[in-house]
Amino acid sequence: MVAGSQYNLDSHARYEESEFGASPAASYDQTMNIEVPEKPQTMSASIQASVTFYPYHDSEIDMIVVSDDAIYFYAHTASIRHISEKALEHFLSYAIPNVKETIALLPLSSGVLNVILHAIYGTSCAENAPTCEELVEAVDELAIMGVALNSLILPDTPLYTVLISYALRRPLDIYALAAHHDLFDLAKYASFYLRALPLSNVGDEAAARIGTQYLKRIFLLQMTRSAALKELVMSVPTDFHPPTKTCKRLDWQQRTLARAWAAGAADLAWDMAPDSSVARLWSVYGRLGGQIECPDCQAAFRQHLQGMVFRWSEVKNTI
Ligand SMILES: [Zn+2]
Repeated sequence: MVAGSQYNLDSHARYEESEFGASPAASYDQTMNIEVPEKPQTMSASIQASVTFYPYHDSEIDMIVVSDDAIYFYAHTASIRHISEKALEHFLSYAIPNVKETIALLPLSSGVLNVILHAIYGTSCAENAPTCEELVEAVDELAIMGVALNSLILPDTPLYTVLISYALRRPLDIYALAAHHDLFDLAKYASFYLRALPLSNVGDEAAARIGTQYLKRIFLLQMTRSAALKELVMSVPTDFHPPTKTCKRLDWQQRTLARAWAAGAADLAWDMAPDSSVARLWSVYGRLGGQIECPDCQAAFRQHLQGMVFRWSEVKNTI
């Protein structure tokens, strides 16, 4: 499949990285053709290789992994074994038989394989800008290979860091991935962006992948936040100031404060969501408080608002 074909590295320059040694030949403008025998001792073909997983004067390289889009990755069996003996067996199960060198033809795209190898080597694939789909497939594949994900995908590990970069744009995909593999820290991070997701928007497939335990966690998060916000909005100010010349009756104060607070609740009603921001509360209630004529009542209103905003910021934000 590779023999006889001339591949140009330009189209795959996104694999360029330097963790495994910067090569003067590796640049976005250059073409790299590596002479590798298709059948050792018989013929050679010009092939396309990952610039990251490339044998820069590395005599320890003892395996070539080829993706289904014919990109060559040069690897160390010891590094794969170090992560998981089963993973190495998995790679070797795709090795071409009766060939001197170990050449494993994996049925994975180069994008996915690149993420997998970076995960195994503990390096970051961020510079290769993998898609969310490639990351998800790579993690699923690592699990199939028998790699213990809970030690590979932890806060501050390179793979975790790349995964959370998609949490804002693709929270459900990242949450589903984390839930499926019981990666609590990752699920917790993604759940922040699911605080207001209508659960009716979660399709059957995603729901099945997430599973009841993690679905329940999101549901409880949303319920808790909705109930807390409702309670805060319903709690009218009750701290009244001592009578002054212009504002002497407590029932006046009570009415003024309750009316302004109720106006805030009415303003919020149409978009009161479990992910309502502190800034939104400040904006709505702050404006109404500013319309109260008595400065002492206004101060009481603001103090109540401060307490409300503080309590809202303290409400659990993630699963
Ligand atoms: Zn007053």
